[in-house]
Amino acid sequence: MPTIISYRGVRLNQRTIDMIEGAEFVCGLTFRLTQGSYNPGGVQGSAGTHDGGGAVDIALKDAKTGALFPKVRRERIRSATRQVGFASWIRDPSQANWPWHLHAIAMGDPDLSSAARAQVTDYKNGLNGLASKGADDGPRKWVNMTWEKWEAAHPNWRDPFTPAQYANLMQEMKNQDMANRQEIRGQALWMLRYNAQTVDERAHAHRAFDDAIAAGQSLEQALAAAIAVMSPLNAHLAEVAKKNG
Ligand SMILES: [Zn+2]
Repeated sequence: MPTIISYRGVRLNQRTIDMIEGAEFVCGLTFRLTQGSYNPGGVQGSAGTHDGGGAVDIALKDAKTGALFPKVRRERIRSATRQVGFASWIRDPSQANWPWHLHAIAMGDPDLSSAARAQVTDYKNGLNGLASKGADDGPRKWVNMTWEKWEAAHPNWRDPFTPAQYANLMQEMKNQDMANRQEIRGQALWMLRYNAQTVDERAHAHRAFDDAIAAGQSLEQALAAAIAVMSPLNAHLAEVAKKNG
């Protein structure tokens, strides 16, 4: 049985955590998790689907204002989770006594509860996973995806982007009409915050820091030396972000 890990306030196994982070990478958003796995009897309305591993709920509302995310953002979260091998659906208050959220089951998780396993079958059969047996209202192109397949196709997904790779990604998103200008700007800011940088550039910055310390400079001076190495890259990213609206 996989180890249960405390992660962002909920309980999950490592495979599910990897999948969540993979989906965040795909859509450039950071999710807020409202329910994890291994939560028997935890939330009424979940019907046992969160009792075992591989289950997670993602908030579709802003934590501070309580405002519902726009439809395009809700659907991007659903697509990104499906793309990495979750069976996932947008849930809304008209269906049951629950707030708007995305309910996701990691397909192929060895620890799925029997209720979660039944939902995976529903997903494959084009259903919404609810007792009403309604039709799935999301895209169907990833129903045969698994985390292992996605990761094999994207072996370096955890590596930081170079500015050129990042510019290509933004262009690709634009070409596919996957995002409007505002969203692309949001993506660019997200990348800035996560400080996209290559391994070489990082090593160079570390060296500048070490050299300054070795030369007897203060900690503050050493930090300034490292930041000076990274600044041109950040400036380039800022420029790309600006150009994209
Ligand atoms: Zn759920």
